[in-house]
Amino acid sequence: MQTLNPPTTQPRSQQFASDNYSGICPEALEYMLAANAGDVPAYGNDEWTQRAADRFRDLFETDCEVFFTFNGTAANSLALASLCQSYHSVICHELAHIETDECGAPEFASNGSKLLLASGDNGKLAPEAVEKIITKRSDIHYPKPKVISLTQTTEVGTLYSPAELLALRELANHYSLRIHMDGARFANAVVSSGLSPAELTWQSGVDVLCFCGTKNGMAVGEAILFFDRPLAEDFAYRCKQAGQLASKMRFISAPWLGLLETGAWLRNAEHANRMAAYLEDQLRGLGLSLMFPRQANGVFVEMPEPAIERMREKGWLFYTFIGVGGVRLMCAWNTTAAAIDALVADIKAAL
Ligand SMILES: *Cc1c(COP(=O)(O)O)cnc(C)c1O
Repeated sequence: MQTLNPPTTQPRSQQFASDNYSGICPEALEYMLAANAGDVPAYGNDEWTQRAADRFRDLFETDCEVFFTFNGTAANSLALASLCQSYHSVICHELAHIETDECGAPEFASNGSKLLLASGDNGKLAPEAVEKIITKRSDIHYPKPKVISLTQTTEVGTLYSPAELLALRELANHYSLRIHMDGARFANAVVSSGLSPAELTWQSGVDVLCFCGTKNGMAVGEAILFFDRPLAEDFAYRCKQAGQLASKMRFISAPWLGLLETGAWLRNAEHANRMAAYLEDQLRGLGLSLMFPRQANGVFVEMPEPAIERMREKGWLFYTFIGVGGVRLMCAWNTTAAAIDALVADIKAAL
């Protein structure tokens, strides 16, 4: 065997740019290695995939349809395409990942379903704004609203309460719309809310959930859960056509089973949320203000531009997509208090 020689260009072992900078958590890796022990049928016709799907049904306390894709862009885009015809539209927040970070994939996968953008405080869709879009036009020249897509937790780290979800469901019922949830950080939402996965999804009116494994500690992989089963008709074909049917699917489904069976999915999210709370405390201690309430594993902090520049010079990586002077800091399953202390010490010096 050759000795491995990993690149050492990263100046720091931990960063706060995104929770997908992290590696694979031990439980996911252990199950992945176990799945590597022998040959099994391909394309999801294996026991790992069956067990993972059943485990999702147990966890969500309902007989939902379960599918796996490689990433979140594909999960969201294909799920939305299955809820829409090409002449329909999807209402989402102006900060939604499907709008800002998926390169038009939802429109591409649906052959043209248009995204209609609504505003709302703290990254959340406000029912009034959504209703205004739904009722704005009813003529044939405008793409017919068919889906409300929301992100839990949101792109700015906040949480929809069941009451807020149900208010959107009421609108959806009134106007015959469906509800898609981008659960890139669904585990963090479960921990933060103290509610069950069922309470946060189908019991609050969600039809389809895209549940992200990558940000929770997997190497790669998303689960798509259809609570309204008829909506999943032919979804497997859609995945295959889009190049999202993994032939060695067990390497997505086994790590999922590892997260679910061992409870690591919750522990990982709990840890990330706890670390973000610690980071929030430290930043407030420096006199800094948050841009949004910290409710899960993301901290959005206001910092003077020169300090942001100095932090970059010191090798820290982070996103500032929220606007001038706003820094997003994400905690993950593996974030250490020591890394936070190092970050905060550098911020203190940079201010
Ligand atoms: C990370 C993320 C996704 C998934 O992104 P991929 O890079 O396609 O896996 C989807 N939605 C949100 C809100 C995200 O943060």
